[in-house]
Amino acid sequence: MDTQSIIHKSAADLRVAPNFVDYEGERCRFSWEAAVRELSVEPGGGINIAWQAVDRHCTGPHGTKIALRFLARNASATNISYAELAALTNRFCNVLRQLGVGKGDRLFILSGRIPELYIALLGALKNGTVVSPLFSAFGPEPIATRVNLGAGTVLVTTDLLFERKLAHCLDQMPSLKHVLLVAEDGGQTAVPGTRDLAMLMAQASDACACEQTSANDLALMHFTSGTTGIPKGALHVHGAAITHWVTGRYALDLHPDDVYWCTADPGWVTGTSYGVIAPLLHGVASVVDREEFDAERWYGILQDERVSVWYTAPTAIRMLMRAGAPIARKYALPQLRFVASVGEPLNPEAVCWGKDVLGLPIHDNWWQTETGGIMIANTPAFDIKPGSMGRPLPGVDAAIVEHLEDGSVRVLETPDTQGELALRRGWPAMFRGYLNNEARYLKSFAGDWYLTGDLARRDADGYYWFVGRADDVIKSAGHLIGPFEVESALMEHPAVAEAGVIGKPDPVVGETVKAFVALNQGYKAGEALRMELLGHARKRLGAAVAPKELEFVAQLPHTRSGKIMRRLLKARELGLAEGDTSTLESGS
Ligand code: AMP
Repeated sequence: MDTQSIIHKSAADLRVAPNFVDYEGERCRFSWEAAVRELSVEPGGGINIAWQAVDRHCTGPHGTKIALRFLARNASATNISYAELAALTNRFCNVLRQLGVGKGDRLFILSGRIPELYIALLGALKNGTVVSPLFSAFGPEPIATRVNLGAGTVLVTTDLLFERKLAHCLDQMPSLKHVLLVAEDGGQTAVPGTRDLAMLMAQASDACACEQTSANDLALMHFTSGTTGIPKGALHVHGAAITHWVTGRYALDLHPDDVYWCTADPGWVTGTSYGVIAPLLHGVASVVDREEFDAERWYGILQDERVSVWYTAPTAIRMLMRAGAPIARKYALPQLRFVASVGEPLNPEAVCWGKDVLGLPIHDNWWQTETGGIMIANTPAFDIKPGSMGRPLPGVDAAIVEHLEDGSVRVLETPDTQGELALRRGWPAMFRGYLNNEARYLKSFAGDWYLTGDLARRDADGYYWFVGRADDVIKSAGHLIGPFEVESALMEHPAVAEAGVIGKPDPVVGETVKAFVALNQGYKAGEALRMELLGHARKRLGAAVAPKELEFVAQLPHTRSGKIMRRLLKARELGLAEGDTSTLESGS
């Protein structure tokens, strides 16, 4: 083992006695059944995420404690206590009941990080309604695709987002029965065909009985991208709260007095599991910033809000590194005691930068939409190997596997062997299906193992190291982007005969989206058309998903069965060896 590359835990890193100190012992002692009992889940498995996260804390002295603190650039902070959150989420639950929206119905939320997002999300969970928060930077197409896939009956959004993205295409989402609008200026809305949420909330009672959901009742849908086809809607259940709670303890070291900040948007699974649910389950005060990244602003929040536990993303850390240490030195962060990151590979320099500049190493951890919660992590219980994702948490069994011809997998026991990262099924937050796609769900498992689609290796000390994705999905600024969705949007333009989309390595955001386009007869490649196509994609897909670069090609490489060989496009782009081209169609 290379001891140079280990960050040993020191007393300074552990200013508060950590929850987790004995890795092997805790893994042996841990059981999900015991965790269920500890969270006092009702006998018979009755559990509701929102009740556990909010109502459980709302009586007694804890009720007045800040649950959520919303920051915005030109407004004073808005605090919502646990008791207020309980009342507001009750009101929203009652609004849904009055509209006839019940258990199992699907509700979508499209908004920035405003209080109503959190209230609607938790209030809908109280009602047993299945919630899907969408990223507000999505364009109309990704929104409509997801609402239709999920057969959404209710949409909560703001008046401005509605006007910009939805008003002209509402008829493309026929399942929607109710659109509830929040006025971004804090006033009232009066848009035909929609309801004003503030008015409905004012008329609703703030008392309600939480729906009796069970651990296996659906709670959340998070959309994720694959290489082919439309996005996959991963289905999550109320019992997932057990994983959120346990991982908040082991991987984020949450203590009741913490001020916690998760920088992820709830439109992505991290922003829901760890930006809404886990901190509330632990009864901590959680900071929510409505603004986007800005180095000075972020250091200011860490300092002024006295953030003690910070969960962020590698792209953000690299942007802070790029902004330079002198900015960081203008701020004092004596309260900050634990920093973790997720979503994409965290380079070893970034871990060490944390130690140098923040005075704390960054704890990388790994999970994905389908796992619902953190699975592998660097924790307070052991030293950090910079560049590694850490070790499986208590209750999680991971392995590196290889696929056999009969469809089964074999666990590769030899350390440092590359294979697919697999997890033994059975943790409570494991997804329970892909919307309308049982076949794809079943394909994700081989016997007892859930296959993650990530390539990794495990070293002799049990640390896991990320190698890459087994498929063509793109990770840009921590967001998974399906090439097919981007290609489809480009092909809706009359000039485009065919499009192939790849992730191009980028030192800050991991990968950027690059499109290769072959034109139809009669269209001429040129700067004007390039800009037009980039604009077209941005309008349809939104800034988060649209390509940043577009190159015209005479034709795209195909397999003999007609699939675009994105792997080859990428190899050619990067000047790498083309690998096995035996399936390449001649002339490609
Ligand atoms: P998502 O489902 O959007 O959360 O994306 C999950 C994917 O992000 C994983 O399958 C990995 O490919 C990648 N990912 C997440 N965390 C890490 C990490 N710590 N290191 C490397 N890749 C990661």
